[in-house]
Amino acid sequence: MAETISRKKSFGFLNTFRSNKSTSADSRATSVSEWSLEEPQPERKASRPRNKLRKKSMVNLRATTSSSTQLRKQAPGLPQHSSFPAISVADEWDRDAQTGERKDHTEMLHSLTYRGSAESLIEKTQLLFARIPAQSASGFLSRFPPAIWARVVDFLGPADAASLAFSCKPFRDVVGTEVWRYLNAQENRGLKIDFLGRLDQDLPDHLLCFPCAIYHLRTQKGQEILRPTNIANPLFHCPNASNLEKKVARTRLTVGRSLPFPFVQLILRAQKYSPAHGIPIDSMSRRYKDRDSDWWHQTRYAVANGHLLVRVISSAFAEPALPPAGLRKLLYSPNEKFTPYFSVCAHWMDGELMPSVKCALSHIPKPLEGGGIAGVAAEIKYRMNKPSPLITLCSYCRPMRRCPECPSEYLIELRMQEDRSNPAKLFKHAIVVTRWCDLGDGSSPQSPEWAACNGEAKFDSVGALGKRAISGIFESQFTVDQVPGQHIVSMNPKGENLGEAGHKWY
Ligand SMILES: [Zn+2]
Ligand SMILES: [Zn+2]
Ligand SMILES: [Zn+2]
Repeated sequence: MAETISRKKSFGFLNTFRSNKSTSADSRATSVSEWSLEEPQPERKASRPRNKLRKKSMVNLRATTSSSTQLRKQAPGLPQHSSFPAISVADEWDRDAQTGERKDHTEMLHSLTYRGSAESLIEKTQLLFARIPAQSASGFLSRFPPAIWARVVDFLGPADAASLAFSCKPFRDVVGTEVWRYLNAQENRGLKIDFLGRLDQDLPDHLLCFPCAIYHLRTQKGQEILRPTNIANPLFHCPNASNLEKKVARTRLTVGRSLPFPFVQLILRAQKYSPAHGIPIDSMSRRYKDRDSDWWHQTRYAVANGHLLVRVISSAFAEPALPPAGLRKLLYSPNEKFTPYFSVCAHWMDGELMPSVKCALSHIPKPLEGGGIAGVAAEIKYRMNKPSPLITLCSYCRPMRRCPECPSEYLIELRMQEDRSNPAKLFKHAIVVTRWCDLGDGSSPQSPEWAACNGEAKFDSVGALGKRAISGIFESQFTVDQVPGQHIVSMNPKGENLGEAGHKWY
């Protein structure tokens, strides 16, 4: 996706290992540095550099039609375009005065596109080894004496050693099978899951079940559909399916809807490996009305930097000047222990989220009151000076709020929405709460983001995310125009964790 495109050509020093297949238009920006690395080799034939000079001098091509012969006649050291030294077609390279090294002005630009992921390193390593011919394991093994191999194995962790033993018979003989038995012990469950996670790419028909720490066969391969929480929807035959102690991990989306962890695995596997490994991400989006209330919900998913992000937009029509009881009826679901109808993280009771929602609701303009002359006067005044239907929220409820303890962001808005059920007043004010959250990389239900959203692990979202907003990353996957422009404040600036004991939420 977007992030893989920008990562590709960041390792300038490894570019010589790239094949020259990609001379298509999409690599125009990167090609300058690639050509530059190869050009000065003296044994190349005369026809090759001509080709490359043409590639380098896009500007010059337009000016002179028979460029290649003319270019070679140009005196060395005379740049054609002094204002563009990076694409100079002059014969001499721009050299560093101190070291004599060739300067590549484009290298800095390409280095800026690097986003700091290990994935590009894996790509480059694969390219690096692509030209080394395969050799038999026994041949490779014989390059060092057994004592050296034993020393190497000593340095490996259990999951690494198990992977090495799994790779081929000669290495299994070196490492031994004891390490697998070690991983199978109940207390080494985390290490076993680490080892099993590395086999994910080779098992498209299976899915790693974390409660069992076993790969189960997918029983609805490719047809897995997300259903409401109360509908049984097993994706594989799991002996622990009815074991309450070992339930499949899930995160709450809205009332009656949740996302089981296997769906996170399926979406991310389809993105990482192949469509056969999972399900298409677009099959996950939903729009539905809550069964017991007037709330509408809309969910959408995106993958960015290997993490699954989800956005839930919830909206409900709201009457002006609701009393406290009315607010509670509007916001909290009695069927789910008075959790809000909209999507919330595990820390919603602490901090300013619910007071902000109530503050936003207080901004809905009240209807005209009073009868007699006063009422008529108010009516005339209202009609002469009609207030805008767009409501600007106050500085307290308008900013986006980020939960300090998990990667969740909330935005509260008041919008005019069409209410088809009431033809007398088609457009009404609705409260709209949007939550963006990062559900992690799908490696396990213990991954920091997933565990934090469910309130199962400590997480410092301010430190982890910094100034990059989840909402911004999410929206930029779909459009460049509508990235929410609100500034972000902490959802719990005082850091008080009173939970249900606090009274602000209710
Ligand atoms: Zn299982
Ligand atoms: Zn307000
Ligand atoms: Zn939270």
